[in-house]
Amino acid sequence: MRLSRYFLPILRETPKEAEIVSHRLMLRAGLIRQEAAGIYALLPLGLRVLNNICRIVREEQDRSGALELLMPTIQPADLWRESGRYEDYGKEMLRIKDRHERDMLYGPTNEEMITEIFRAYVRSYKDLPLNLYHLQWKFRDEVRPRFGTMRSREFLMKDAYSFDLDQAGAQHSYNKMFVAYLRTFARMGLKSIPMVADTGPIGGNLSHEFTILASTGESEVYCHKDYFDFPVPEPDTNFDDAPALQKLVDRWTSLYAATSEKHDEAAFDRVPPDRRVSARGIEVGHIFYFGTKYSAPMKALVAGPDGVERPAHMGSYGIGPTRLMAAIIEAFHDDAGIKWPDAVAPFKVAILNLKQGDAGTDGACEQLYRELTTKGVDVLYHDLDDRPGAKFATADLIGIPWQVLVGPKGLASGQVEIKSRSDGSREMVSPQAAIARLVG
Ligand code: ATP
Ligand code: MG
Repeated sequence: MRLSRYFLPILRETPKEAEIVSHRLMLRAGLIRQEAAGIYALLPLGLRVLNNICRIVREEQDRSGALELLMPTIQPADLWRESGRYEDYGKEMLRIKDRHERDMLYGPTNEEMITEIFRAYVRSYKDLPLNLYHLQWKFRDEVRPRFGTMRSREFLMKDAYSFDLDQAGAQHSYNKMFVAYLRTFARMGLKSIPMVADTGPIGGNLSHEFTILASTGESEVYCHKDYFDFPVPEPDTNFDDAPALQKLVDRWTSLYAATSEKHDEAAFDRVPPDRRVSARGIEVGHIFYFGTKYSAPMKALVAGPDGVERPAHMGSYGIGPTRLMAAIIEAFHDDAGIKWPDAVAPFKVAILNLKQGDAGTDGACEQLYRELTTKGVDVLYHDLDDRPGAKFATADLIGIPWQVLVGPKGLASGQVEIKSRSDGSREMVSPQAAIARLVG
């Protein structure tokens, strides 16, 4: 992509309304635009990041055996009357009437709808286990939308729903998601800690919140420091091996980790003092097992091997991709801007032409741009007529992992400079060596 043909509305000024660094940087780097309180448009650069996050989420959901579908954003109120949640949900739910005066709502979550889909088709234990997920926009009329996409009213969610015949099956489904979540966040460069959590209005009794530590996090969390060094399950994890999966989950729940709602002072005191972490955290994912809370009132019944019909055991599993964009920036930035981890970066390489209009640098940049893009590397070529200082500032702000600086001085000795955004290290190499380094 040539910057001259791209849409990258950079803000030089720090927006006053943004209280935390990720919100400031998302606005300044041209990732998002606020359209109403807690409602954001994703601009081209922001959408590239979001799509990368969603790709990782999908790959790990699919790896664990979950199946993607897509449910609508607008739901009939009657479904929610069946579960009893229509009245319960309160003001967070955006209620709508259509032209026929029918009560509708903009989905804040999808337990009812997925239960309706399930009961329409599934009757027998032979069709289980089943885990269906989607990535869809949600609306929750939060009292205090704030911090940009960290807590917005309209936000993207990956929500998965598992169905099993009994509790043992449901535990295995829960464990699959637990392990998939560890892998998902790790691939984004994040250290997530599964914390014993409150189940809130969704109900149920087995629940973990996956939390990223950050000083700007909204919740107070407590955990054992050793979690930060635990190895993340490998890609070849066998998700069908229930005992092996249980062992992984047992390990990842063996030490103290709890959100403030579930915090147990006495248990935390038993953690050795030098291993105690009490910090602010950002909830990026939340998994629940809630048994037959929806399947019983909504009559989502399955027959077991004995032929007896019973309500399916369910769990639900959420991840917030738009919140993750902000959480990743909270974890990876410096005074100059964002430092995207490779896996979610909007582009891998930025080429900075330090003397636009100079035959030498123009030619070298064009060649680098052509060769890298031909080899499948995502490149943003800064080909505007800006001063070098402005180009450095833009590149640092938008946080592309690798910068290739092409100036007349270096070219005179046949070299360009590669700069790593993450650690600031620089190296002079030939254009061919730069390409070799940046491919793959
Ligand atoms: P919170 O406790 O932060 O209000 P929640 O418990 O209501 O979140 P869940 O229902 O568990 O959220 O939703 C699943 C995931 O969706 C959360 O882990 C989070 O990543 C994301 N999420 C929830 N609410 C928001 C929001 N207002 N803005 C952005 N992402 C959100
Ligand atoms: Mg939650």
